[in-house]
Amino acid sequence: MTRSELLSADLDRVADLWGARAPHSKGSVWPARQDLRLEDGLQIDDVDHWVGSACVLCSNGCGCDIAVKDGRMVGVRGRVDDPVNHGRLGPKGLYGSTPWASSPDRLTRPMVRVAGRLVETDWETAMGRVVEVSRRLLEEKGPLSHGFYTSGQLFLEEYYALAVLGKAGLGTPHMDGNTRLCTATAAVAMKESFGSDGQPGSYTDIDSCDAIFLYGHNMAETQTVLWSRVLDRIEGEDPPIVVCVDPRRTPVAEAAERTGGVHLAPYPGTNLALLNGLQRELLQNGWIDEEWVAAHALGLEELRKVVDPYTPEKVAQICGVEADQVRRAAEVFGTTRDVLSTVLQGFYQSHQATAASVAVNNLHLLRGMIGRPGAGVLQMNGQPTAQNNRECGADGDLPAFRNWDNPEHVQQLATLWNVEVQQIPHWAPPTHAMQLFRYAEQGSIGFLWISATNPAVSMPESARIRKVLDGEQCFVVVQDLFLTETAQLADVVLPAAGWGEKTGTFTNVNRTVHLSDQAVAPPGEARSDLEIFQLYAREMGLTDKDGEPLLQWDGPEEVFEAWKECTRGRPCDYTGLTYQRLREGGIPWPASEQHPEGTDRLYTDHVFPTHTEQCETYGHDLATGGGVTEQEHRAIGANGRAFLKGSPYVPAHERPSPEFPLLYSTGRTVYQFHTRTKTGRARSLQQAAPDPWVELSAPDAERLGISEGDVVRVESPRGAIEVRARVGFVREGTVFAPFHYGSWDRDALSTTRQANELTMTVWDPVSKQPCFKTAACRVIRVRAGDGPSTAPTTAASRPVGALSPTRGGAATTSVTVPTPTYRLDPAGRAR
Ligand code: SF4
Repeated sequence: MTRSELLSADLDRVADLWGARAPHSKGSVWPARQDLRLEDGLQIDDVDHWVGSACVLCSNGCGCDIAVKDGRMVGVRGRVDDPVNHGRLGPKGLYGSTPWASSPDRLTRPMVRVAGRLVETDWETAMGRVVEVSRRLLEEKGPLSHGFYTSGQLFLEEYYALAVLGKAGLGTPHMDGNTRLCTATAAVAMKESFGSDGQPGSYTDIDSCDAIFLYGHNMAETQTVLWSRVLDRIEGEDPPIVVCVDPRRTPVAEAAERTGGVHLAPYPGTNLALLNGLQRELLQNGWIDEEWVAAHALGLEELRKVVDPYTPEKVAQICGVEADQVRRAAEVFGTTRDVLSTVLQGFYQSHQATAASVAVNNLHLLRGMIGRPGAGVLQMNGQPTAQNNRECGADGDLPAFRNWDNPEHVQQLATLWNVEVQQIPHWAPPTHAMQLFRYAEQGSIGFLWISATNPAVSMPESARIRKVLDGEQCFVVVQDLFLTETAQLADVVLPAAGWGEKTGTFTNVNRTVHLSDQAVAPPGEARSDLEIFQLYAREMGLTDKDGEPLLQWDGPEEVFEAWKECTRGRPCDYTGLTYQRLREGGIPWPASEQHPEGTDRLYTDHVFPTHTEQCETYGHDLATGGGVTEQEHRAIGANGRAFLKGSPYVPAHERPSPEFPLLYSTGRTVYQFHTRTKTGRARSLQQAAPDPWVELSAPDAERLGISEGDVVRVESPRGAIEVRARVGFVREGTVFAPFHYGSWDRDALSTTRQANELTMTVWDPVSKQPCFKTAACRVIRVRAGDGPSTAPTTAASRPVGALSPTRGGAATTSVTVPTPTYRLDPAGRAR
């Protein structure tokens, strides 16, 4: 490929979210296309060298190379030989991957709070203060005084080091990640159904399915490259039927209409009623594989009883959908040969999150539709390294999907880490994030270490979280790239190296592990999160029972080798992987020494990790969260069979009332990622979505006298925001707000912009995921705007009526290239 060929394909990928189509038919390999973006004015020949990595601006994990010039990251290109993206990158990856790194407001020195103000200092002083407080609290109160709240953004090696530090070093159960706000339900739903975390399906299922069901998953905006793969099937021969469950009319909903599928738009908070109705239709119409279920699953008769009341008419009444839509969706699922299901936040962030997500697993189990090409379940993640947090145990789970309630599993870790078994907290379930912040609020956690996440913006009920972080009752350490809204409230701030500035591995939604090599040096005195955790462990004198340093590794590769041993024989076996092998491209686990080529999809033998000795959990009652005991689990005798579990629908905690007549829900949108730490510093992305907004339906807007672009005040019992209105395509009676916007680029700690001012402190009883989708609210017009809202016009947020022009980004290049042979072909065979 010549430079002129590349430049002739220049595209504005801010406006063109998914790039050019490459139609392909069922069972064929997704054609390759290489997307590339360099800083303005640079040509390919200007790049000094390229460094292998994968994108970290969503959970998709697109393989890419980082362009380096003069010691700076100046762009990215997709890796055509990567099984995840076949060379493609989306708008966030192309425009948002590198500009943040050279942003002038990077943290370059540690900071400590002096007389109420954060002032720069050296590492010795900052870590000295951290260690002093930590030691004092350990002496006075013991390890329960310590809490760690981390991220879905660190590398595997960093999570593992943190897990060892917290569990074996300090002995605290108070560890969780912002994965609790996102992917905790995915993990728990898989544990409840299959016995262990571990994604059953594969992205290659898109290439060979006959129908795709997307449950609360606006893939078109949250994983744009994955949606390109779906669009390329839709444009090819034998296109799959798409079924969309989403209260907004997203691009996925439009695809459902185009492909003869259904768009079901249930009232927020009623997903479980809908799923119970779908399961009932399968059972009533005999669209199940009784023989397969008898051999490979348990609980059919109990499930039948639970879902029996949910006739299509009853579902229609609860969910506000048509009964015939329910019948049609069930017919598609029940009569199509190979169905792929994907699930995301629309299901996870509600009061019956686990039960609704498990119901998706049930649908597949009822048809025996798992473990073969095209028939997968993808319980999606939202963040790039959320999977690793769950695997490594920095979120409170025990590493490598071990069961905290199984003494043998705990002993295995004690042996591996050479510590006494009593040192590892396992007397009760790990503390989830919502409880962790409650303890910090009360002061029983007096030392809270927050890494690579921004709870002041992302946690529900913002005013309360700010108070927790700002209060005297808890000493707060924050390590991050920038002085985030959370860091502004900390007692000590530690400057961290980011993506491309350190080496490590991470694993995407479909278990594909990528190595990200260090491309450039971090700025100033910033250090990798691994180095920071090791420094703390060293200063604290954390040792094993022989007095050897606990985190004694020399660099990330040694941590990875230690992690491999931790996974040996577990469902997430990494023992066949090496940094050297990963430099050739992503490999999906399990990748044992016997099968180092990796595994495209799980459960091809229809044997599930549900043996009592093997499983990650003994399970829960989905309605209450009550735990199943080891004895009860053993008595059930699952022994390799999956669980069919059901639960009746109950209404959400907060319902519309005369005072607060609308339902408020938050979510992701296409141009920003999380709290905009990176994407907000990328000019093209920030210009495309510069300010927060709320979406109202046209009938609601008319009733309230609100026009496109008006400034409105949205109030719930907990707080209020003032933003511009987008009159768009949410369902009537609901209001949607993007959760990305805080105040770092506006007035200090401004409270009028962020969506979580309104959300509430309640959670799903099983996965403990907070409910971001069902708060009652009211909307009041404040004044006329000076034009249309600046909300995006390219996807679900587009306005009713005249479209406002999308402010575009600088050109990228995109070329069709020969499709290489992938490490795993669409059928999951190793090449
Ligand atoms: S789809 Fe996700 S991982 Fe891929 S380029 Fe876009 S943001 Fe990055």
